[in-house]
Amino acid sequence: MFHALEECQQVIENAPHLCNALPCMTPCFNWFEAVYFWMGLKLYDLVAGPRLLHLSRYYSAQESVELFPTLARKGKDRTLKGTVVYYDGQMNDLRVNVGLACTAALAGAAVLNHAEVISFLKDEGCDRIIGAHIQDNLTGKEFDAYAKVVVNAAGPFCDSVRKMADNDAKRTICPSSGVHIVLPDYYSPKGMGLIVPKTKDGCVVFMLPWLGRTVAGTTDSSTTITMLPEPNEVEIEFILDAICDYLNVKVRRVDVLSAWSGICPLATDPRAKNTESISRDHVVCEDYPGLVTITVGKWTTYRSMAEDAVDTAIKSGKLSPTNKCLTYNLHLIGGD
Ligand SMILES: Cc1cc2nc3c(=O)[nH]c(=O)nc-3n(C[C@H](O)[C@H](O)[C@H](O)COP(=O)(O)OP(=O)(O)OC[C@H]3O[C@@H](n4cnc5c(N)ncnc54)[C@H](O)[C@@H]3O)c2cc1C
Repeated sequence: MFHALEECQQVIENAPHLCNALPCMTPCFNWFEAVYFWMGLKLYDLVAGPRLLHLSRYYSAQESVELFPTLARKGKDRTLKGTVVYYDGQMNDLRVNVGLACTAALAGAAVLNHAEVISFLKDEGCDRIIGAHIQDNLTGKEFDAYAKVVVNAAGPFCDSVRKMADNDAKRTICPSSGVHIVLPDYYSPKGMGLIVPKTKDGCVVFMLPWLGRTVAGTTDSSTTITMLPEPNEVEIEFILDAICDYLNVKVRRVDVLSAWSGICPLATDPRAKNTESISRDHVVCEDYPGLVTITVGKWTTYRSMAEDAVDTAIKSGKLSPTNKCLTYNLHLIGGD
């Protein structure tokens, strides 16, 4: 049922790898930072256990600039003491997304992209959702799909879907905009990223090699929900300003090849009594019978999000699965 198979093929051809291990450098400008990051990242190695990609290690200032030639050795009032390099997983989200859809289809799911839920079907007493009315946005055709449980995984849009079930549903999403810019490849060496966990403004900034270019980011500011979020000049300048503090070259506005913005759904649990607890951990709830909502979370935790959503759906629909959730060890198509 996949629409636009050629779109999927293009994604796979342009990004043949699902993911890779990327060394990331954290600059230290005083000895306290060096010990603090070294200990923190050694703890990270320990927690990774058998899944550790490579051990983190300390590099002197001289070794660091050899590894990352654009890294500033001297700043305004500071001198680079060294860096701690650790390994992180880097993945292509488009490619993993297509891999997930193909894996689901192979397991028997009917997968349909470019399709939108426009209303819900309810039982006679309007006590429970029993399906969804769907519009195929490529053909304009509308149709109904019936289900024992519906899972709402609409990310930042999940409140508008909850409102289709119950117009009085409380708003839970606090949308946050994250902007990234793309720079020419010479700003970062081929196999090494730079991550600053806390800039002078208290933000995280990074520069990572990405598909033959350098990607730098990010911002984290509240925004409104729209289908096509766009980065603005202030956000682009903010990133340029933040990375310039750590480089021995001036990154100019004309060097920005492209920029994009994405909306992160941060949320309060609809069952919470107040709105103080904005969460970056995923939230699963069934606040209308038959509709399970899963939101917030990260790609990093998507398998555990899926497991929690499926377990909640099993309870809601009183389903009798033949096996336990397989998500934890499931290989994605293309994962080899
Ligand atoms: C800038 C940025 C940087 C990030 N960086 C990282 C990172 O480094 N590591 C990490 O782990 N995570 C990262 N994340 C988080 C991760 O990308 C999000 O958590 C994830 O995309 C949320 O996934 P989701 O499936 O819940 O929502 P989405 O990816 O937003 O998907 C929701 C989908 O629902 C669809 N939809 C909406 N309404 C309807 C409807 N009525 N009917 C049918 N479909 C509908 C939308 O079209 C969309 O495709 C980042 C996010 C952003 C924005």
